[in-house]
Amino acid sequence: MRLHGLHIVAGLDSFAKQQTFHARNPADGELLSPGFREADAATVERAATLAAAVFPQFSETGPRQRRQLLNHIAVELERIGVQLCERGNQETGLPVPRLEGELGRTVKQLRMFAQLVGGGNEKLPVVETALPERQPLPRPDLRLTQIPIGPVAVFGAGNFPLAFSVAGGDTAAALAAGCPVIVKGHPAHPGTSELAGRAIVSALKKTGLPAEIFALVQGRGHEVGRLLVSHPLVKAVAFTGSLAGGRALFDLAGQRREPIPVFAEMGSVNPVFILPAALAKTSGALARRYADSLTLGVGQFCTNPGLLVARKGPQLDGFLAQVNAALGAMSPLPMLHIGIKDNYVAGLKTLAALPGVDLLFGSDQPSPGCLALPTLLVQPAADFLAARQAGEEVFGPSSLVVCCDDFAQMLEVAAALPGQLTATVHALDEEENQAGRLFRSLRLKAGRLILNQFPTGVEVCAAMHHGGPYPATTDSRFSSVGTTAIRRFLRPVCYQNFTAALLPDELKPEAGED
Ligand code: NAP
Repeated sequence: MRLHGLHIVAGLDSFAKQQTFHARNPADGELLSPGFREADAATVERAATLAAAVFPQFSETGPRQRRQLLNHIAVELERIGVQLCERGNQETGLPVPRLEGELGRTVKQLRMFAQLVGGGNEKLPVVETALPERQPLPRPDLRLTQIPIGPVAVFGAGNFPLAFSVAGGDTAAALAAGCPVIVKGHPAHPGTSELAGRAIVSALKKTGLPAEIFALVQGRGHEVGRLLVSHPLVKAVAFTGSLAGGRALFDLAGQRREPIPVFAEMGSVNPVFILPAALAKTSGALARRYADSLTLGVGQFCTNPGLLVARKGPQLDGFLAQVNAALGAMSPLPMLHIGIKDNYVAGLKTLAALPGVDLLFGSDQPSPGCLALPTLLVQPAADFLAARQAGEEVFGPSSLVVCCDDFAQMLEVAAALPGQLTATVHALDEEENQAGRLFRSLRLKAGRLILNQFPTGVEVCAAMHHGGPYPATTDSRFSSVGTTAIRRFLRPVCYQNFTAALLPDELKPEAGED
């Protein structure tokens, strides 16, 4: 499939500004062809107007058609899988095997949503039949279902060019709900975005659904995203990225005449607490697993373990020496783009300047280009608690080790943390009581609690929750991974005193019901 560098609106290549931008290979800095047109206000206007116009029709499609659409998108992505992974590799520097794995996850997500829609349970129907004899007042027949919220703006994530980008989890969840989608492609991988966008266009054609259900607008700079979030016909936003970006879009949505929900998944330091007996008994294996989790994907995961909390002493010193040895055996690898690398270097500089922080592994000097070295910093818990800097994610292969005097101080650190996607405790059976006390505090902070494993690796399933209190996300009640992610794009509607003929299918009385 040849890349055109154009937008996709109503299935057509849509011209916009003459101005173009290029992706750049982070491994060698080479500019990649073709140039991609910057979207303008007219492109966004057309995409939003067409999405709103098709919404009533799409919202009424039956489960069969939506299931077909999601399954066709999965097939189309698989059909161009080799090209997707090659282009993804050129644009992000992520190794092809990692992208192949991500593609597998992407199609799995689509098929899971297809299955969910096919099962008909996604609308969570609730039926309370009439109680005409109830005293002092009769109860009417009440039936609750969910309907799609309207056109959704999706911001592709830089760190998941397939699984959280154009045809990723947010798009799959919104389409499954019956919402048209307008994607703002991430500017670092426009070619990968265009390929995935064209796969969705083909799937819409094969399903016989209107092309207006999907649009892809591209652009470098905040203007396109701002236009999209401000557009009165857009009814919800899904975003994965920086705290600054997510917060800016959330504030923008709140300033609209009609405010809309913004489901932004942003920064998290994903604290890992290691209790003393676990540290003593499993030190070597734990050190290797920790170093692996820390450096997986060059640390560019929102679930990267950016904070380690343990009791100071010879056991912690021994553990850290083993982590250092494991990190020392690794070579620097390219980050996704130079912006992320610059943020990584600046974030480490800020962290290193905080009271009591020492460099344990890494270098004062940044590696060339997009290459990033793993970094380990240490800080006494008293300084950490006084500085209250724990909310700042340093996106990349780095971690801050907070050294506590005793368990009471570990509890203090837990209580001082801001919202997180995950929180982990490593403990032996004999430390269950302490682990329980830590988790009682940590469950108020995080959306996923982990015992004796590491936070990287997010299973896509119905029991997953990928979310957490601010600043991890802008709405801790919802997940951006797994099938419950559909709930972001549905809204409840209650039917009171309806006849069977007028009720939607999922609320119609079963045979034999009065
Ligand atoms: P980003 O800067 O937040 O950008 C994500 C998307 O949002 C891009 O399409 C960007 O488009 C748009 N955007 C950002 N700020 C905006 C604003 N104020 N108004 C309108 N649109 C806006 O994320 P990134 O480029 O992927 O990486 C940058 C940093 O984000 C990283 O260094 C890291 O700290 C963090 N990050 C965190 C996660 C996570 O999961 N927690 C994931 C990825 C990145 P334009 O650039 O074209 O404006």
